[in-house]
Amino acid sequence: MSQPFIIPFTEGSMEQKHLMGGKGANLGEMTQAGLPVPPGFTLTTAACLEYYENGRTLKSARKDEIRKALDALEEKSGKKLGDPANPLLVSVRSGAVISMPGMMDTVLNLGLNDETVQGLEGLTESPRFAYDCYRRFIQMYGDVVLGIPHYRFERVIEEMKEERSASSDTELTAADWQVVIERFKDMVKEETGQPFPQDPTEQLERAIIAVFDSWNNQRARIYRKIHKISDDLGTAVNVQMMVFGNMGDDSGTGVAFTRNPSTGEKVLYGEFLINAQGEDVVAGIRTPEPIAALSNRMPAIYDAFRDISRRLEAHYRDMQDIEFTVERGNLYILQTRNGKRTAHAAVKIAADLVEEGVIDRRTALERVDPEHLDQILHRRVDPDARLNVLTKGLPASPGAAAGKLVFDADTAERKSQEGEKVILARPETTPDDIHGIVASQGVLTSRGGMTSHAAVVARGMGKPCICGCEEARIDLKAGELTIGETTLREGDQLSIDGGTGHVIQGEVPLIDPELSVEFQRLLEWADEFRRLKVRANADNSEDSQTARQFGAEGVGLCRTEHMFMEADRIPLVRDMILAETADERRAALDQLLPLQQGDFKGIFQAMDGLPVTIRLLDPPLHEFLPNLEELLTELVQLRMNPDADRREIGEKEELLRKVRALHELNPMLGHRGCRLGMIHPEIYAMQVKAIFQAAAEVIREGASVEPEIMIPLVGHVNELKEMRKLVEEVAEQVESRTGQSIPFSVGTMIEVPRAALTAAEIAEEADFFSFGTNDLTQTTFGYSRDDAEGKFLHHYIDHKVLPENPFVTLDTDGVGRLVSLGVREGRRIKADLKTGICGEHGGEKRSIQFCHQAGLDYVSCSPFRVPLARLAAAQAAILHSSEPDTDSSAKIG
Ligand code: ADP
Ligand code: MG
Ligand code: MG
Repeated sequence: MSQPFIIPFTEGSMEQKHLMGGKGANLGEMTQAGLPVPPGFTLTTAACLEYYENGRTLKSARKDEIRKALDALEEKSGKKLGDPANPLLVSVRSGAVISMPGMMDTVLNLGLNDETVQGLEGLTESPRFAYDCYRRFIQMYGDVVLGIPHYRFERVIEEMKEERSASSDTELTAADWQVVIERFKDMVKEETGQPFPQDPTEQLERAIIAVFDSWNNQRARIYRKIHKISDDLGTAVNVQMMVFGNMGDDSGTGVAFTRNPSTGEKVLYGEFLINAQGEDVVAGIRTPEPIAALSNRMPAIYDAFRDISRRLEAHYRDMQDIEFTVERGNLYILQTRNGKRTAHAAVKIAADLVEEGVIDRRTALERVDPEHLDQILHRRVDPDARLNVLTKGLPASPGAAAGKLVFDADTAERKSQEGEKVILARPETTPDDIHGIVASQGVLTSRGGMTSHAAVVARGMGKPCICGCEEARIDLKAGELTIGETTLREGDQLSIDGGTGHVIQGEVPLIDPELSVEFQRLLEWADEFRRLKVRANADNSEDSQTARQFGAEGVGLCRTEHMFMEADRIPLVRDMILAETADERRAALDQLLPLQQGDFKGIFQAMDGLPVTIRLLDPPLHEFLPNLEELLTELVQLRMNPDADRREIGEKEELLRKVRALHELNPMLGHRGCRLGMIHPEIYAMQVKAIFQAAAEVIREGASVEPEIMIPLVGHVNELKEMRKLVEEVAEQVESRTGQSIPFSVGTMIEVPRAALTAAEIAEEADFFSFGTNDLTQTTFGYSRDDAEGKFLHHYIDHKVLPENPFVTLDTDGVGRLVSLGVREGRRIKADLKTGICGEHGGEKRSIQFCHQAGLDYVSCSPFRVPLARLAAAQAAILHSSEPDTDSSAKIG
């Protein structure tokens, strides 16, 4: 059956949303429920698509259909399009299937011309209303249909106001508007070479076409890209009889939410303007009044509106965003839709609606977008604060921070010890800066991407970070940060918002993240539905505690290298790496051991009773040494300085030799992961010893721990076999020395394709698999992530070579296939093989959905994403459960 081209509101409903768009379908549904909606009809998305297929022209048969729909509308309204005595005026409104508020175009007051405007004149005491409507129409039509920029019209109005010494539009009289209209018409003629179209039918057809075309305007395209909406859907067009909020003081227009969209509180929330037309509320020319004031201004209207808003919310079972207009004491509803809301409000409203018996738990869980929760789970900028945004960088780690500007790690540390809050700004950071990052509230770098050192470290710490902020020029020598015309010096107040990338001058007020009662309730419901367990990636006891508070069921990834990077460890780690003899190396390791042991103890205590997976040292050793180029520069400078200390030069030269020796052409594929343990078993042995000694202590103190020792980057079963032997030997030693038996298991990361392909063999030696999907993505695609993101990946995504950034959303077709294969093959050999994922994908909703389907036991993500993962895991379980949906749609009550 062919799709209808036009549907009158009287026959529309939500079932037709795919054809009528959201706005049209809701107008239909409200019309059928008997709500006061001005009559009209919808040209469907099918009509839009046909228009495009037909070379962007309307078929003449379609024009006939429009005429017929118009006849019906004229009959219903008792007015006629183009009738000078009693003109029908209409609005031509866009409305896509997925709401894209404000992105496409709308034309109001269509049908006005030099004659029909006179028909309007008699309707009000003063003719001002008629000419105000006409000039608005020429303005909107000129902008939307004729492509004359909006400001050109505004300029004419400004001139008029100057001539009349008027401070606002409202002071202009009917006669003034008549002059403006003539000037508008002249401008249209000049710009387009044609007079302003006087034939209402022509006006209508061209407006419809313009709205179809607005589907492809730039802002709509960008909006669709950001929100991943298909470009092929097209928009519907609603043609509706105009009602007028600008007919006097018994008229007005407004917008209201049925609940507060920023807090979720159950109160009518919105604004209205007396004697105004729709766009005035948004345009900000006059300050609207809060909706509550309507109860004094127009009590009967207020009551009627409140009543309708309740009915609408009950019908749609969700918070509504409602547009209304009052024409001479008569209330009209012009639009309703599910209202956009902050994450806070989303959580509260979903939980409240369950308590109110409006929706069930399942529906509540489906209503909240896990990605959105990021907003709640970090310190954030007080939404009521006024901001002086200086520039924008990459939002590398969410959350907001404020403090005094510092330019080096040592100063950051010193000031923070003195009790100051600081923001560390660097061109980029290196492991040498870790203590500064730890000491600061947040980090700003002018170079580097989302995976730069600063970004990764900051995310790991849950610390706000903005990277690659190219407009921020950092002059380390002068101690200055210059952005545009603003220059800030050390000690100046600066704020950053790592969620938006905004760099803000001064100290903005921040609010703490908190799990509201409603949020906790929602998460408890999520726990009832989900099958996947949720663990956290945590490298210290603080993160482990945070994770546990957020509901983590263990640690899925403890990265031991972060422990090595702490300020007091780096010299020891360097000694270990630079050691010339085995004795020297052992001495350095002996000093590191108690420090690591302390770290593990803290984590075990925080995770009492829960599993903790610890990955042995993974990154190549040169990451702990200074950067080769920097070292070279330093050395050159030292050598050129006649007063330089000979010994210092000698030490630097020695360091340089070692850095050169460890230098790799391809570090991502180089000497790292278990390859380190194979060549330097003493390093792994030290780590394992620290783990078991910590476990023994904690067990003796009465806690229960079960370390899971994880060997990274295994590609061949023999690697795991050898490392497993090493772990077991150390375990035996510690057990016999402490007399304490320690339950533990040994497993591996699956992060190179060969490991997934030979999972059956590897499973013989493994108690668990943890899919390291960051590296597995790199090695499956053959991309080095840092190079890819800096060079070609964005082009690939922009040009849809890749549907998605595979480092953000798991590539299910490729990488995911390896994961599924690994799980299947592994379980074939060991039915009880524990499986999880510990890449950054473990905290991303679509990847979590995949993990659910692939049958993994758990996902692991950063502590702050644990609540999000709990919710996403519940949604995955709901999506793939066969239970029928209980929410059937009813009619408006
Ligand atoms: P958007 O999708 O950008 O919100 P709309 O189609 O809702 O655009 O139109 C914007 C505003 O124009 C509405 O909020 C309303 O105030 C006004 N408007 C639209 N249609 C009519 C109408 N038939 N009568 C009076 N005002 C209207
Ligand atoms: Mg609207
Ligand atoms: Mg890895």
